[in-house]
Amino acid sequence: MKSFSCEHGGVACGAKVTGETDEEVLEKAIAHAQKAHGVDLTNSQTLARYAQSLVRDESPAAADH
Ligand SMILES: [Zn+2]
Repeated sequence: MKSFSCEHGGVACGAKVTGETDEEVLEKAIAHAQKAHGVDLTNSQTLARYAQSLVRDESPAAADH
């Protein structure tokens, strides 16, 4: 399982999206960023890369830390 948290990107936002694959998470993150932050992550390679780098592996058993 993969996850993306806005706060990992230094954004004061509690939003977190999860998915089975990087692509799925990224898609949700892009939709969230657009709706909640007015940022189009697909606009720039740098932003898209950055967002991708924030996608993390998450073990459902040990998600706590
Ligand atoms: Zn957010």
